[in-house]
Amino acid sequence: MEERTELETIGEFGLIERLNPKREIRNESTILGIGDDAAALKYNGKVILVSTDAMVEGVHFDMVYTPLKHLGYKACVINFSDIYAMNGTPKQITITISASNRFSVEALEELYAGINLACEKYNVDIVGGDTCSSTSGLFISITVIGEVDEDKIVKRSGAKPNDLLCVTGDLGGAYAGLLVLEREKVTFKANPNFQPDFSTYEYILERQLKPEAQKEMIEWFKENDVLPTSMIDISDGLASETLHLCKSSDVGCELYIEKLPLDYETTRTLEEFKIMPDVGALNGGEDYELLFTVDQKDFEKIKTNENIKVIGYITDNSQGSNLITPQNTTIELRAQGWNHYRKEE
Ligand code: ADP
Ligand code: MG
Repeated sequence: MEERTELETIGEFGLIERLNPKREIRNESTILGIGDDAAALKYNGKVILVSTDAMVEGVHFDMVYTPLKHLGYKACVINFSDIYAMNGTPKQITITISASNRFSVEALEELYAGINLACEKYNVDIVGGDTCSSTSGLFISITVIGEVDEDKIVKRSGAKPNDLLCVTGDLGGAYAGLLVLEREKVTFKANPNFQPDFSTYEYILERQLKPEAQKEMIEWFKENDVLPTSMIDISDGLASETLHLCKSSDVGCELYIEKLPLDYETTRTLEEFKIMPDVGALNGGEDYELLFTVDQKDFEKIKTNENIKVIGYITDNSQGSNLITPQNTTIELRAQGWNHYRKEE
């Protein structure tokens, strides 16, 4: 009998490994391939970054509570975020949309209003794409092209023991926003006349529906002459991204739970849902903040930026990746973030 392996047994990251076992590079211009937030290509001394991210109805968004304008905006921002994660600047995108006839022309114009808004804000050009029909729902795939100086590329793989582990902004907000939207969806289904009151959840709903990428942070690095030793954007959750970074860099880390940056509204909402705020900050995804490491010599500069929090430091690989609790006990860091195909525990 032919062998059949279920996707859930290997998960998203196992699947990427399995489908791309060799990672053969045939062209000199390919200087960085699979395994980072974006690929890096070098032409005539100039480095170009390329990355792709798709959004699928029913997987990444639910039409019941996702305004199409926000969706278009978010589809762009999540792509820009991968370019910033390489310390680059996004310049162009191509957009593929596949929509069923459930969507009207006006609805897709709304989607594009959001795409245009994001491109205007982040100074990015739309240079092409593809449009086709779909038998079920809406699918958007965006490819982003960016620029970076070769000596300024920041990979996932450069973290060294004693480097400081840093994060921008605050965490868990997008996840808290999703919890609220899912709760209201259930209530709405039971009573379609129900009008939810979202006034006390404004920040977290914006984090979920209309996130931003960390353009200002990349500009700050440049202005302040700070070059992170490694970087990744937080799409699947801090725990998962920290492990990716440590694995790529072949190091361990100590991450202090009490240092996790949480917004007041996020904490309050997670508590409302009986979720420990730290757990939400570690495993809730889609914050699109940056996780990076810097050499200790940059600490004086880093501490002047209010948007950056030092949450731990890098250790030797042999020490593993650990969480340090407020009581000073050590727990192994494990990823419970978003992983397509992963079996629910
Ligand atoms: P991110 O979260 O930054 O978008 P992913 O976790 O989606 O990155 O992907 C991890 C790495 O694997 C990236 O370098 C990405 O380009 C690559 N990758 C993802 N899916 C595939 C695929 N089907 N074939 C080849 N490479 C892939
Ligand atoms: Mg990424």
